[in-house]
Amino acid sequence: MADLQVHQFPCLSDNYGLLIHDPATGDTASIDTPDADTISAALAEKGWTLTHILNTHHHGDHTGGNMALKDATGCRIIGPHGGGIPGIDQAIGEGDTVTFGSFTAKIFETPGHTLDHIIYWFEGEQTAFVGDTVFALGCGRVFEGTFEQMWSSLAKVRALPPETVIYCAHEYTLANAKFAITVDPDNDALKARIKKIEALREAGKPTVPTTLETELATNPFLRPDDSGLQKAVGLAGATPAEVFAEVRRRKDNF
Ligand code: ZN
Ligand code: FE
Repeated sequence: MADLQVHQFPCLSDNYGLLIHDPATGDTASIDTPDADTISAALAEKGWTLTHILNTHHHGDHTGGNMALKDATGCRIIGPHGGGIPGIDQAIGEGDTVTFGSFTAKIFETPGHTLDHIIYWFEGEQTAFVGDTVFALGCGRVFEGTFEQMWSSLAKVRALPPETVIYCAHEYTLANAKFAITVDPDNDALKARIKKIEALREAGKPTVPTTLETELATNPFLRPDDSGLQKAVGLAGATPAEVFAEVRRRKDNF
């Protein structure tokens, strides 16, 4: 079986456009649709024809291009239950699978950022598209759900194999790094990663994708059971959900 090809490109001010392509069948999907024009240009550049849109949640910077792209290509739109996805053909949720070309994605519901948020895990390809659930060194702001819900959602991501490549929807990493070091100040892996991130951004390069292994070692939102981090936020021995909530609150006020 041929590999799943992924083409990532900047969209809007800080989103990433993501096209995935199966060379065996020619199928091409856009993971979310931050901007129809930018996505159309990327499709033309690759010589790919859009067959699917896979939405993660209803926010405008993830669905804004749905209708224009569907009108232009007749593509099939798959996304979460909840009713906010323009042009949706198929609504999916926890435990469902989505077939894309020769590949299969398993679906997890990850409420918190929004209530409808889902992520796509291509197990065989060791790749996950996580939208605004996890960012490099960060996680989505909790707009619609509770901190508890968001923690359960992050715990699902944390349980994936560490080698999983994580494609998140935004380039927020440098700002996330400045916060992360304030709650995890003695983490040497984090310090080393921040240097790499600064160099990448100075060179105008993306810090996405990341891997789960890297996030487990350095992302404070995935480390609420780390004793050093717990101490740094004054919650030694607290539950992961409590520590996560405190870290998220601090980030919101950072
Ligand atoms: Zn969002
Ligand atoms: Fe977003």
